[in-house]
Amino acid sequence: MKFKYSLSAILSMFIVSSCAGAVGVINPTPVVAEAAGQTQVPIEAMEVTPSPVPFQFNLPTPGAEPVSGWRPPLYPIPWAVSSHDHFYFARPISADNVNWPLAEYRYGGVFFAPNIVHTGVDIDAPEGTPILAAGPGTVVSSDWGLYTEAPGNQNDPYGMAVVVRHDFGYRDQALFTIYAHMSKLLAVVGSHVDTGDVLGLVGATGATTGPHLHFEVRVGKNTFYNTSNPELWMTPPQGWGILVGRMTDEKGDLLNQLLVKVQLINSKSPLRTVKTYGMGAVNSDPYYHENLVLSDLPAGIYKVSLSYKPEDSDTAAENETWVEIFPGQVSYITFQGGIGFNVIRPPAPTLELVPRGLPLTPTSLP
Ligand SMILES: [Zn+2]
Repeated sequence: MKFKYSLSAILSMFIVSSCAGAVGVINPTPVVAEAAGQTQVPIEAMEVTPSPVPFQFNLPTPGAEPVSGWRPPLYPIPWAVSSHDHFYFARPISADNVNWPLAEYRYGGVFFAPNIVHTGVDIDAPEGTPILAAGPGTVVSSDWGLYTEAPGNQNDPYGMAVVVRHDFGYRDQALFTIYAHMSKLLAVVGSHVDTGDVLGLVGATGATTGPHLHFEVRVGKNTFYNTSNPELWMTPPQGWGILVGRMTDEKGDLLNQLLVKVQLINSKSPLRTVKTYGMGAVNSDPYYHENLVLSDLPAGIYKVSLSYKPEDSDTAAENETWVEIFPGQVSYITFQGGIGFNVIRPPAPTLELVPRGLPLTPTSLP
């Protein structure tokens, strides 16, 4: 294969793309914080002490807002609210308690050297966690040597990795998903897998310092240069949505590694930050031409802000806008130097949402 970078650059790319596990440690927080000063009344006590006022309701005092890595169940796949979206895949790690994906290790991130970008997302999980097929397809590779194209090469930066070619494509192009750094390969080349089938176990093989899954989506060809942002391909949790953006300078050129802050208004939920893609082997979606994706946002109204130094100024200015995140949908924003933000509401859901094969009305009762 052709190498676009020097060997040291490639090595650093993978040291980076397979992020340090120590950095990715999740610090779980209580699902529901205790309501300050509120005394719990046992149910038995309430039952034996009838209220003298028949219709007096004692509403509980609201507690602190839940803060947790927990998320609702995912929408069924494939999920495509508009013809531009393609949430065809489930999550390759069970979504019950994973604070996913790591904000620091998104697609397009630059972690080590300039122009060396991350071509997938890293999902932190303990060694031995089952890695699940993101969609139905055929296992086309299950070995060491994915990057170096040398089967059995235990120096390959991807470590033990599995490649699934999916049963469906996208706009006449094949779709592949990649699962890297496994501790154990369970997938067999040539076998067919369904969504959720175990392909292997989370590990730290290859260029990585801690156990995690490096997950890629490749469109068209199974190569390092054909990746697409997995956050645009994996179905969101129910009731949650995705922010997609294109941030450019006055000339319309993409702004790289621009820090963007996203905060749910009237909320104590933590500020989310995301950087625009770095330069290098990252690809934007053919419709959105994005350089920023932040998924897993509970529906609501968010303040989006960034600091930008206009060409004709010596100082950076704060820019902000508000964007509504809709359940199961993409909200698309643009920013251009000299112009500012523009918010475009995504198309409303249509009957396309009805899963194929299901009747619109019940045909019989059980
Ligand atoms: Zn990675």
